[in-house]
Amino acid sequence: MSQTRQPALFISHGAPTLALEDSPTSRFLEELGQTLERPAAIVVVSAHWETPQATIGVHPTPRTIHDFGGFPQVLYTLRYPASTDLALAQTLEQRLTDAGIPVHRDTVRGLDHGAWTPLMRMYPEADVPVVNLSLPQQLDEPGLRSLGRALRSLRAENVLIVASGSYTHNLWAMEPEGSAPQFWATEFAQWVDTRLLQRRDQELDAWQRDAPHAHDNHPSIEHFLPLFVALGAASDDEPARKLHDDWRYGSLSMACWRFD
Ligand code: ZN
Repeated sequence: MSQTRQPALFISHGAPTLALEDSPTSRFLEELGQTLERPAAIVVVSAHWETPQATIGVHPTPRTIHDFGGFPQVLYTLRYPASTDLALAQTLEQRLTDAGIPVHRDTVRGLDHGAWTPLMRMYPEADVPVVNLSLPQQLDEPGLRSLGRALRSLRAENVLIVASGSYTHNLWAMEPEGSAPQFWATEFAQWVDTRLLQRRDQELDAWQRDAPHAHDNHPSIEHFLPLFVALGAASDDEPARKLHDDWRYGSLSMACWRFD
């Protein structure tokens, strides 16, 4: 067994064009893939795969899902042919079961763009196997941290945890590319930043009630929730590190965080 200990990451995946574009975030993810110790496998949790209870994708070669509309045609031709690490899927199922978290298997599910677009930038050869884990709707923020805690031991086994969502995500408020970020977005991001840096996890749990402009930034909450999986996978009291940020369309934060 490898001695390499991997982090958990929260990645804001932005628009599906992340797969193609040359941007600060695409360059950041490419560099991150090159500078992290090469993982044996990746567990990926995407905001775009919500299920009532935790579900593990066990198709050996999950298809690439083009779950978006209105983007350049070339985006629909991209494939991310990573295989599933079926042994790890079994281990993951056991760890979740041991943690008292009900878990199901899905033999059909592919990789949605929340999973494959950042991975395509980090590992363009698709040669690191993945395990696709859903975002369970029945878990609240503390519950999602418990799920992350069940993944924590995998990090010591050279498994990278990638939680993919968006730090802010109001698609109805987007402005032209290059617009300065709106105050309601930056105030929200600063509130979260402070609590992540200081690991005030329980305050973060109450973000929907307490964070400024929470509803404006997340009219629906699924893009923020993967953050709690990554947070739970962090060691206790280990400060989180903000690795990257960029603002797109006047309110879409591309923040990426590392949890050790
Ligand atoms: Zn998304």
